[in-house]
Amino acid sequence: MNTIQIKNLTFKPYITKETLQTTVKTIAERINADYRDQEVLFIGMLNGAFIFAADLLKHINLTCKISFVKMASYEGTTSTGEIKEIIGLNESVKGKHVIVVEDIVDTGLTIQTMYHTLQAQQPLSLEICTLILKPEKYDNSVPLKYVGHSISNEFIVGYGLDYDGYGRNIASIYQLQE
Ligand code: 5GP
Repeated sequence: MNTIQIKNLTFKPYITKETLQTTVKTIAERINADYRDQEVLFIGMLNGAFIFAADLLKHINLTCKISFVKMASYEGTTSTGEIKEIIGLNESVKGKHVIVVEDIVDTGLTIQTMYHTLQAQQPLSLEICTLILKPEKYDNSVPLKYVGHSISNEFIVGYGLDYDGYGRNIASIYQLQE
């Protein structure tokens, strides 16, 4: 794989699409085993998790529903630290097994807000599933049960992740070239 250009930035290959598919399948198998014979409500975080959530759900063999919500804290390549409100949660989570599907956890601010908002609605259980974790900045504020890849503190794009809105359609993940 070669480097790619998105707007003014160059990105180098980082996680292949084959590796991503293996990771997604492995996570799905764990979820299938952990929730066997139970119903699960998946909550996908837009925009970034749309591809991960779609691929993950294809491997889930449980009785399940998925609902997507939107919440953003990022502009460009650095976190603004500003959390916007959660939009689109019209499914009640009370008394349900809930798994939040996130693309990437960086500082943890986004997932923390999501976690506490959902927890207040008294789900039967609540877990987080993230494809990528950047442990360097993560404050461990909420437990992350399912983590696909832990990576260094580099900006990445592809497989749902964007740079300024672009690059979400790329099947593999690329890392910013310094
Ligand atoms: P946090 O609130 O954990 O700091 O940031 C989580 C959100 O920031 C993610 O949902 C994602 O939108 C964005 N983000 C964090 N790191 C990256 C990255 O390396 N690449 C991209 N494209 N987005 C990121």
